[in-house]
Amino acid sequence: MVAKNLLIMGPPGSGKGTQAARIAERRGLAHISTGDMLRAAMAAGTTLGRRVKDIVDGGDLVPDALMLELVMYRLGQPDTAAGFLLDGFPRTVAQAEGLIEALSGDQVLDGIILLEVPEDVLVERALARGRADDTEETIRHRLRVYLDSTRPVLAALNGRLDRADIDGVGEMDEITARIEAALGA
Ligand code: AMP
Repeated sequence: MVAKNLLIMGPPGSGKGTQAARIAERRGLAHISTGDMLRAAMAAGTTLGRRVKDIVDGGDLVPDALMLELVMYRLGQPDTAAGFLLDGFPRTVAQAEGLIEALSGDQVLDGIILLEVPEDVLVERALARGRADDTEETIRHRLRVYLDSTRPVLAALNGRLDRADIDGVGEMDEITARIEAALGA
């Protein structure tokens, strides 16, 4: 797979944030986590943060147009020139289509890393992590949102981008190695 401008997708609790940070670091890619960006805005109490707080706390999705604007702004920054890894975006078919349409010049998407983890394992892991907002109900809601809104992105992009399906069950290092093997040198 050409491994320059990548997306990483996976259900909530699949470990995609951790893996994304590792892969980006090893390959010198800009790690763009929309969840981290929104949480930083919320922590800083910016206009954006106040606007999205209730949505994020409830495990729902921030409107597509706002997310697209945020990501396109970030992709305009110089550190993305060597490649980027988008983590948590696109989360809807509209975001995926909007992203592809908005990218221009040498910024084209090369591939998708899909982390696959069965639902039982996800709920177990999320409860073990014990974040204040991680009640079983919120966890199941986020999973539902993933299945309903995000999973269809894979079908929409099928055949348009290379995809590496990675077994996301196992030790963290083992999973990183699987991703590295799939991306190649
Ligand atoms: P994450 O850390 O990727 O799980 O994101 C945390 C929360 O931020 C999600 O549950 C959503 O409420 C919001 N969020 C992050 N990325 C997006 C996106 N691409 N579209 C809409 N909402 C998002």
